[in-house]
Amino acid sequence: MGCFILLVFMTSDTLKDKNDADLDVIIIGEAAGQPAFTHVSWEDHRRLLAILEDRSRSRDDRVLGYAAFTDPQVGRVGLSLKQAREKGFRAREARLEVNSMARAVEWGHDLGFYQMVIDEESGRILGATLVGYEAGELVHVIMDLIETGAAWQVLERAQHIHPTYAENLPSLARMFKAQQ
Ligand SMILES: Cc1cc2nc3c(=O)[nH]c(=O)nc-3n(C[C@H](O)[C@H](O)[C@H](O)COP(=O)(O)OP(=O)(O)OC[C@H]3O[C@@H](n4cnc5c(N)ncnc54)[C@H](O)[C@@H]3O)c2cc1C
Repeated sequence: MGCFILLVFMTSDTLKDKNDADLDVIIIGEAAGQPAFTHVSWEDHRRLLAILEDRSRSRDDRVLGYAAFTDPQVGRVGLSLKQAREKGFRAREARLEVNSMARAVEWGHDLGFYQMVIDEESGRILGATLVGYEAGELVHVIMDLIETGAAWQVLERAQHIHPTYAENLPSLARMFKAQQ
């Protein structure tokens, strides 16, 4: 990917400057000062391709996630409660301890917590922090829900498989029901 990037290096979402002139230099990937993740640079490649093919894809229309491969793992996506409130959302948070989960007790990987942030007005899921066994995998469930603009009620209704760590995601969403 690196070689391709350096050949086309650039500057905006549209390949035009603010006066609508074509850009000579295009900067994407880590060199553009974005969060330093491989998937962010890869997303830039897909964005650049979309722009060249006259399709709409902007720097802000994908939700950012990342993982820390610690033990237990940390999987993060979207906004934290603080970030959501700073952006003006009437945000709420729910939290579930991993040591209350059947799979965690069975496997002895019971350290961590799952947290999810929602917008109270629309119900939309805004972000999540999952700390626990393979949380870097599990967080993609939330990422995809955020991509579709889903509300916590969608997750709450889902019938996840027992006994998995993932079955606790609807339980996490159900906590917003209890808070209503
Ligand atoms: C130790 C380490 C671990 C990491 N682990 C992760 C991880 O687990 N997950 C994750 O998402 N991210 C990780 N990252 C970050 C990730 O590697 C970078 O964000 C990603 O590689 C950036 O991709 P890029 O294509 O924008 O830039 P790069 O991958 O840096 O590519 C730029 C390319 O340009 C070349 N180049 C530079 N100057 C010139 C020049 N003048 N002429 C020609 N070529 C040039 C370089 O040699 C390089 O090949 C890690 C980074 C490091 C250093």
